[in-house]
Amino acid sequence: MLLGPAQSTRIAVFLMVKTLFRNSLANILFVTGITAPERRGRGRFSIATFHRVLPEADRLAYPFPGLVVTPEELDTFLSYFTKHFDCGDLETQHERYLSGEITARPLLAITFDDAQYDNYKYARPVLAKHRVKASFFVPILAVERQELLWHDRLGFAILSLPKQAQEGQERLMQILTATGLAIKASGNLVSDVVSASKELTLETRLQLVASLVEISGTSQTPEFARLMTFEEIGELASDGHEIGSHSMTHCLMPECDDRALAYEVAESRHVLQARLGKTIATFCYPNGNSDARTALAVAQAGYSRAVTTTWGSNGQAAERFQLKRYDMVAKRVQDSTGNFVPALLAFRMSGFYPGLGS
Ligand SMILES: [Zn+2]
Repeated sequence: MLLGPAQSTRIAVFLMVKTLFRNSLANILFVTGITAPERRGRGRFSIATFHRVLPEADRLAYPFPGLVVTPEELDTFLSYFTKHFDCGDLETQHERYLSGEITARPLLAITFDDAQYDNYKYARPVLAKHRVKASFFVPILAVERQELLWHDRLGFAILSLPKQAQEGQERLMQILTATGLAIKASGNLVSDVVSASKELTLETRLQLVASLVEISGTSQTPEFARLMTFEEIGELASDGHEIGSHSMTHCLMPECDDRALAYEVAESRHVLQARLGKTIATFCYPNGNSDARTALAVAQAGYSRAVTTTWGSNGQAAERFQLKRYDMVAKRVQDSTGNFVPALLAFRMSGFYPGLGS
């Protein structure tokens, strides 16, 4: 559906007013201390999620900029967190929380998904500066093969195709149509194709990725996007950071049959323990997808906890194999000029702010 200019203007004004209202409300609640983490987070256990940490130039060349914080933004997040929370890796903080330890500030765990090399290169020094330990979740086969996760391979292919003159765009559309993908056009082709692909069976999805990579010629991806090696992961472990499993193939767990599920959960723990010589106690569901059956499989494989991407903090009664987290998106806690607004982050983590899926 195409919108007329008057309609587009009305929508733009509505969104602006909504943002203004939300920001003012966030400020009032922050100034009055109502959303202060010390108050809202008391007696609760919070977990922050990050993905990639890249300098601005790389963020611009990456297909999913919303998954990226810059090292400077990570520094700002950690300054805020260490001021308002007692921060550490997930295993340590969760055990402290469950033991009922009384802390001056609420407990917060810092986590990074997908074992990207940028975590090693850019997040590690920022964490060291703030003396904070974190947890890193490793998708085993991707690291072993040094092969980007499927959404990254798809993203780089789609970014490159429309740039290859008219023909590239046409071939992209032909392949998407042939796969039977119903793309809901939000204006961002990369995210539209990725979310539509999640509805495909694993096999069809991987075939689609392979054909797009082939016709776009993007099998060689930029060095900045690579995954960590096991040596680099081992160094993080030696620093005192926690290493957790993020499955073998990064597939969506509820889609797996019992045998595949056991492989993803138990085998990944086994490989990591053998590689690192440490007990692996935390599992992170790829894409956050989990259900009662996957939670049981994680428990049976000997893990002590697992994390989802469901937004929220956790109470004492929280299901330890389906812990909630706060996904950190830099843009959502910045003003229009890109400055960090603590009131917005406090508001988002307060439990007062509904509709956090977007
Ligand atoms: Zn992941």
